[in-house]
Amino acid sequence: MRAETRAVAKQQEGRLVRTVLGWYVKTREQMDLGPFASRQEAAHALQRHIRLYRGLNPRTGPATARMHIHDAETCQRSNCCDCLEAKELGLSMAVAS
Ligand SMILES: [Zn+2]
Repeated sequence: MRAETRAVAKQQEGRLVRTVLGWYVKTREQMDLGPFASRQEAAHALQRHIRLYRGLNPRTGPATARMHIHDAETCQRSNCCDCLEAKELGLSMAVAS
């Protein structure tokens, strides 16, 4: 695997998420991207997003400071993939019981 391909794969790791509605891209900004019909479309959207936001929202502080616990009840993000997943999980748990 070329170094460039490895770098792209690392960027996509954990950021492309498949949901019942389609593929989503998790971002560090106020809004996630999606849904997209395919993983490839989501991957392209992530590339565009990274180009657009490069240097605008630098990561600061240690990795632990950047971690967050997602709470769908209080989430202020729009088009939030985590909220969608939480809802999906709730639905599947409701169906299972
Ligand atoms: Zn959320």
